[in-house]
Amino acid sequence: MANACKRQFVRTIERAAFVAGSTLALTLAGYSQSFAQQAAPHAVVLRAAHLLEIGTGRVISPGEILVDGERISAVGTAVSRPAGAQVIDLGDTTLLPGLIDAHVHLFLHPGAEDLQTVQESVPQRIVLAILAARDDLMAGFTAERDMGTEGAGSADTAVRDAINKGLIPGPRLRISGNAIDILGGHEDAIHFNPAQQVLSNATYANSTDEIVAAIRQQHKEGSDFAKMYETGPDSMRDGVLHTPYQYTLAQLKAAVEETARFGGNVAVHAMGEPGTLYAAQAGVASIDHATQLSDETMRIMKAKDIPAVPTFTIFEYFMNESEAGAKRERPMFEYKIKEFKKQIAAGIPFAVGSDVGPFPHGTQARELELMVKYGMTPLQVLQADLINGAKLLRWAGQIGELKPGYFADIIAVPGSPLDDISAVTHVSFVMKGGVVEKLPSPSR
Ligand SMILES: [Zn+2]
Repeated sequence: MANACKRQFVRTIERAAFVAGSTLALTLAGYSQSFAQQAAPHAVVLRAAHLLEIGTGRVISPGEILVDGERISAVGTAVSRPAGAQVIDLGDTTLLPGLIDAHVHLFLHPGAEDLQTVQESVPQRIVLAILAARDDLMAGFTAERDMGTEGAGSADTAVRDAINKGLIPGPRLRISGNAIDILGGHEDAIHFNPAQQVLSNATYANSTDEIVAAIRQQHKEGSDFAKMYETGPDSMRDGVLHTPYQYTLAQLKAAVEETARFGGNVAVHAMGEPGTLYAAQAGVASIDHATQLSDETMRIMKAKDIPAVPTFTIFEYFMNESEAGAKRERPMFEYKIKEFKKQIAAGIPFAVGSDVGPFPHGTQARELELMVKYGMTPLQVLQADLINGAKLLRWAGQIGELKPGYFADIIAVPGSPLDDISAVTHVSFVMKGGVVEKLPSPSR
């Protein structure tokens, strides 16, 4: 145990140096070293002004968590302090479970999305994906679902596995490999010279047999679930979204059955009807973007507990990117807000996913702010993020709450996120699986 702890602290020091660069790195390394030098503690006590119980919304003050190895062993106002336990006092902060982003693209960065596959090699993109995983973790995201490598094949397998082995810092990951799309579909390289044979950013599957074969190939290469493009291209006409479906109900059902065979599931990019209805009927795990949901679709989502993942941040980002972007994207954004309010009123479940990648990694806690801004309470958004997110990523009972037996995925945010959700955009402390990944600046 002592050795395991020593290893953890060494990793913390190395990572801090790797992560922060320059002065901050030295400070963090010094901070880590100071407690690493003390007789290799086998338990850590985290102490903060408050702790939020996500399930009930109850705030415990002060909040303490006893961490033993990679898991939480006690939570309360005053936990026991085993001999040699290291106490980390996080001051006037609130302890929360590590955040979950149910829709990320580690293999994308800001700049022309369709050109990244064309201009950048897969090895180059893997380097950037590793940095993206680190940035997301430092922002407090300790678990993520990667929704497609966008043409980098199963390169996400290597990133996930390196994180799991402790070789590089990053969130726990559920990965899809490449996404699946029809020929000429939403993610195909449509606007290029056909003679250049520019590759699609997804894997083609045009029939039930091809869908099953693509899922099997991806799973062979390490995928946890399948991501499918179900709708697009999108257009706004007379203030209403129109978006053709890509796969039939029968095809989506075949995909759901195939992934269920290995314990996986299907997530769809689905902006509107009738694709969103087919997805709900087929029993997908989540409907992502989910801008337009009919009453029948929402009824099924409630009955089957299928969350919508609104991904407001990506829409906001493209709208604010340029004047042309604003003109093009604003009607869609306004429509999306109006529909979201209907979805809240209908009582459908939500999970939180930002679609980060096209906008900078590590900034995606904005999604929680936007879900509050457009109608949910801070507690509802945190519950959607953490409880529904844990279920969606198939880690229910393991992450998403601060309870004995759960993984010690813990963050600290200033003040109270229930009073001001923007606290989650200022994460000062990150622990994942009992390993300290980020410490507050000592000048705090
Ligand atoms: Zn996406």
